[in-house]
This record gives sequence, C-alpha cells and structure tokens, in this order.
Amino acid sequence: MNKNSELESNGKKDSVNEYFGENVFNESTMRQKLPKMYFKSLKKSIDEGKPIDPDTAEVVANAMKDWAVEKGATHFTHWFQPMTGITAEKHDAFISPQNDGKIIMEFSGKELIKGEPDASSFPSGGLRATFEARGYTAWDCTSPAFYRDKTLYIPTAFYSYTGEVLDKKTPLLRSMDALSKQAMRIVTLFGNTTAKRVITTVGAEQEYFLISKDMYKKRKDLVYTGRTLFGATPPKGQELEDHYFGTLKEKVASFMCDLDEELWKLGVSSKTKHNEVAPSQHELAPIFSSSNIATDHNQLIMDSLKKVAMRHDLICLLHEKPFAGVNGSGKHNNWSMGTDEGENLLEPSATPHTNLRFLVFLAAVIKAVDEYADILRASAANPGNDHRLGANEAPPAIISIFLGDQLSDILDQIEKTGAVKSIKESGVISNLLSTLPSLPKDSTDRNRTSPFAFTGNKFEFRMVPSSASIAGPNFALNTAVAEALRQIADKLEKSKDVEADSFNLVQEIVKKHKRIIFNGNNYSEDWVKEANSRGLQNLKSLVEAIPGIIAKKNVDIFEKHSVLSKVELQSRFEIILEGYIKTVKIEALTMLKMAKRQFLPSGIEFITIVSNSINAVKTTGVKVDTSVQENLLKSSSDLLKSIQKNVDVLEKNLSSEPHGDILAHGKYYKETIMSNMADLRASVDSLEVIVDHNVWPIPTYGQILYNVD
Ligand code: ADP
Ligand code: MG
Repeated sequence: MNKNSELESNGKKDSVNEYFGENVFNESTMRQKLPKMYFKSLKKSIDEGKPIDPDTAEVVANAMKDWAVEKGATHFTHWFQPMTGITAEKHDAFISPQNDGKIIMEFSGKELIKGEPDASSFPSGGLRATFEARGYTAWDCTSPAFYRDKTLYIPTAFYSYTGEVLDKKTPLLRSMDALSKQAMRIVTLFGNTTAKRVITTVGAEQEYFLISKDMYKKRKDLVYTGRTLFGATPPKGQELEDHYFGTLKEKVASFMCDLDEELWKLGVSSKTKHNEVAPSQHELAPIFSSSNIATDHNQLIMDSLKKVAMRHDLICLLHEKPFAGVNGSGKHNNWSMGTDEGENLLEPSATPHTNLRFLVFLAAVIKAVDEYADILRASAANPGNDHRLGANEAPPAIISIFLGDQLSDILDQIEKTGAVKSIKESGVISNLLSTLPSLPKDSTDRNRTSPFAFTGNKFEFRMVPSSASIAGPNFALNTAVAEALRQIADKLEKSKDVEADSFNLVQEIVKKHKRIIFNGNNYSEDWVKEANSRGLQNLKSLVEAIPGIIAKKNVDIFEKHSVLSKVELQSRFEIILEGYIKTVKIEALTMLKMAKRQFLPSGIEFITIVSNSINAVKTTGVKVDTSVQENLLKSSSDLLKSIQKNVDVLEKNLSSEPHGDILAHGKYYKETIMSNMADLRASVDSLEVIVDHNVWPIPTYGQILYNVD
C-alpha cells in the first residue's frame, strides 16, 4: 500500500506541508541547527558566492552529520555529476575508531569541502590518462545537502588533479555567475541599485514512459539500450489522442502518489502530473528554481522515477524514443532570468512596449539564440534525440524562436520606426457560460511546435533530451546570453541617453536577427525550406551538431566568460562522440544477439509448423488447397533469408577498423551502421506480422504499450 493511502486510512495528520523538505538540510534546518554567526556566514557564501571560511565549514559539517545521524544515516557521500550525464556517489561511513575499541560518528569540515573519489573510470576525453587517477569533489553549498537511504548526500563539483573540470555542475555554476555579472550591468543601467545578483531560473518538465516490469524483462533491447530496437506498428498508436490528459489508471496514479511523496520529502516541488500523448507516456513538472537546484532536482526526479517505478513492478523509460511510430520524450526546459529580489526580467508587464528593460533583455536572448544556435543545438544532442528531433512529433533540428503576435508586432514596429505606437490588445473571452465573468485572454496563443518558445514570461527550450542532464543546455544558453548582454552593456554604459540608445539597439538587433523568429508551424516541410533560405542551420544528427562545441566563435565565448576552456571543450567533444559510438555499438550488438538467438530460431520454428501442416494435409489424401500455407512458407522463408543477410552485413561492418578520427568514425556509425540496423529491423518487423503470435519470442508493441492497468 502506498504511504498516502496508509495515511488516509489511519487518519494520521501528516500533511504535505509538514513533511515537505524533511529530508533536506535546507535554510530553515540550518537556521535551527547552526549557531547564529555561522548560519549568517554560510548564508553569505550561498547568496553572494563568497568563499566559506574553515571554521564555518567545521561547524556546518558537524551539524549536518548530527542531523543526518538522527535520521538514521551511517554514511555520507559527495554526490557529483560526471560526464556520463547521470550522477555518481561513493559512500563513506561516519565511523571513527577510538582507543577503547568503540567508535564515534565523525564528519569534519575538510571532509565536507573536499573529497577524493578514484576518478580513473569516468570519461575525461583525453584530459587524463588512466594512471592519473586523482579526481576531486568540492562542496557546492548553493544546493542543499539531503538525506536518502541512510546516507547524507552532499552536492559537489568534480575536477581533475590539474584543476580541469570533469563534470556538468561546474560549468553551469560558472555560466550562472557569468550571466549574473553581465545582466547586473543592464539592471543597474535601468536604475535598480539594490539587487545583488541575477539568477537564471529553470523549470524542467520531464516526460517518461511507464511499462510493466514483466514485459521489460522479456526484451533484451529495453534491458540493454532503454529503447525498442524491433517492433511492428500495433493497430492502435496515438492517433485517437485518447491518452493525452486522460484519466490516470489506478496503478499509474498510485505510482505518481508515491513519487510525489518521495520527491516532496527531498524538497523537490513536484507540481504537475498528467498523461502525455503516446500510450503509456506521462509527464511531471516541478515548480521552477535556480538553474543549479533545478538541475540537481531533475537528477533526483529521474532517479526517483526509476526507483519508485520498480517498487510498483513498473519500469520507467527515460529514453528519447523508446518506441518507433509514437511520440518520444523530451524535457521542456523553461528558462528565465530574475533578480535576487524576485523580479523576473522576462516579464513583459501589461505594457511591454513601454517596458524598455524587458525589451533589451528580450533582444539579448534573440541575438544570443541566433548567433549561437549551433551551440544550443549541440547542447541538445544525445544519441536518443537523433531519433526524435526532426521526426514528425518533436521540434525539428532547426533552431528558431516563437514570440507570438503581440511581441512580434512590437518588435516589428521598433524595426520599422524605432518606436512603438500601439500594442495589440489581448482582449477577453466573454459569454462562455452564463455563470462566468469575462475571462482575460493571454497576449498570444501557444505554439507547441517551436523549439524555443516565449511563453508569457519565460522561454521554453523544447529540444532538450529526456534522459540527459539539463546542465548542458542551460550552461550553453546562459553563456550565449551572457555574451549578448555583455555586448549590449558595453554600448549602453557609454550612452548619454540610455532610453533612446536602447531603442536603437533593440532596432539594430531585430533587423539583424529577425531571421531566427518564426511563429508558424515548425513541423511543416515549408518551414524546412524557408529556414534554409533564411540561412538557418538544420543539423539533423548528433554527428552534424557536435562540432559546434569546438567551433572557434563558441570556444571564444566559453573562454571569455570563464565557463570552460578550449581543452575542456575539446574533451567534451570527444566524450560525446565516444559515447555516441559506444551507444550505437551496444544497440547493434543487441540487435544481432536478438536476431540470431531469438528471431531466426522462432522463424525456423514457424516454418516447421507450416511445413508440418502442409505435410499433414497431404497425408490425409484429401485434395485441398494448401496455398495459404505455401504462401506463408515462402514469405517467411524469404524474410528469414533477408534477416540472415542483414545480420551478416551488420556484423561485417561492425567489425571493421576505425574510420579516421573520432568524428569520421562517428559519421560511419551514423551513416553505415545505423542504416544497416534499420534494414535488419525492417526485415524482422515484417516477419513479426506474419508469424503465429505464440511463436514470437518477445512481447509486441501492442502488448507493451497497452499493458499497465
Ligand atoms: P505551461 O503552461 O507551459 O505548462 P507552467 O506555468 O505550468 O506553464 O510552467 C511550466 C514550467 O515552467 C513549470 O516548471 C514552471 O515552474 C516553470 N516556470 C514558470 N515560471 C518560470 C520562470 N520564471 N523561470 C523558469 N521556469 C518557470
Ligand atoms: Mg510548458
């Protein structure tokens, strides 16, 4: 029974507001557990990015340990985010032996601040040879420690002996600092003298599939690769659109209840849950927070999704395209910038045309997204997303911005006249129900096809892959926008008339970058053509997109804003390509194994059944037509032959030597191996639809997608 129903049934008063965040060493716990002066000192470091002094670290470590031990902790771990895209942890017990043979529980400031996991087996992209195993973790005090599974978790950054960055958190934190620094220059120019920082905020909507554990275990492709590598289209897919926002099945609802409770205890403000478009697909959205915390929380969400699903005999698939032919999963990265006083800098207000500061920030984003579209595209590239971007359901691989009617009209006027005379009123909807007052309309409708859409007071970057960390897309975006803001601030700080020059600058930016604005249907073929004529790139695959990481203009801004160095970017380029090649190789090997050990034998079994039937009929001596069996025998034998042929080709091509440098080798996997895999799949899927379902060795799409009740 899940905890919620337990609570309901025995009438305990435990309510969400009592247990929310109970497993987090958050500000209110710190205030309780730390002497006032140390609390203040820590708070200063968190809020203002000042280094922590050793005394404070010592006191905080001890308080954290006492708090965690009280909850049952025996261990602590530095929790970090290496380039695998998931999190890593090594647990150490708090125990410290005493002379009398007993132990005490100890945790020092030094242990809190710095850890040293053996780092040799994490991807480093040539930054470090295996024999140079040292890697360090360093406490990120801006993301609170938490308690889970008898362990105190401490969010940390991860770097090498020589100080090179080996993780996803460090560049994110640095990009937030970079953006804050540049944005503060503009905020100050527009008269705010009290804000201390600008914080980037993120709310990441997470899509996922839930399937039954039994079905999952019977499919080697799901077990080894997280996606189906075979499977004929079932009679029913998502065409009736009856799953989207449909009632939650009981098993799913009960899973979601447990998940919410687990996340709430960890201080993750899980807010929205619903069924998504594809059968068995769902979504969870938390309330936004700072990019750093949102990134850590998204990792906790992904981890909890998997763990809680297991407890319900379900499997959560986070892959971008677990099933061909139905929608895949993404992560909608809602992003904005706000001052530490809580003002959202992308809030247009009721009068966006007079809100000049808003227009300047908006222009900065437009400029950044156009100039650095390639780095944004690269930041959303992972092996799974290659099956999603550009396919009919998801945002295409072309980056463009949706602004909506009202803002487009405002920018249009600025472009043409340097000023805004009027704004399109949004109006109201009236006479809907006799009992309803008139309802205000939003300034524009939504556009669900845009990869980068303005949604009222934030942008929604919709290309982001469902299984990956959101750190990469966010530090890419933050860095690009920081650079645009820097250029704008450089000009405006010299200006004698900030208002007039701001309009001029916005006008200049709109003229130069309006090609990136597109309010139409991004899924249409016409857009692909038009984008091409506008000179926008359409980088359809990871291997086409990833060189963007090391393009000179992009390296320049990462270095200028101290987010990542050229060497670190080169290493990331290699890690990503290496990961891509390995992923495709695992998929190819899995396909070969399934084809040879499962589909060919099942096909042979089926042929034997059919042949036996023909013989059996013949031995009766009755003259009947056996053409049905004969046709089946022929078509299944032909398919077996083509499966065998496709197996041979794939096997041969997989065993060939590396093809040039890592990028060339990656392209070989994309062009040759992936197309061999598609051929093999096509022949197996054709066999699936003609053989006896009792003989077919794995659960079909229909069985998997319509199994959870
Ligand atoms: P939608 O209509 O797109 O579902 P929601 O208001 O539900 O919009 O928001 C979707 C996500 O965007 C949520 O995670 C929400 O917390 C987040 N969000 C809202 N405001 C901001 C903001 N200023 N910065 C970042 N994310 C935000
Ligand atoms: Mg949304």
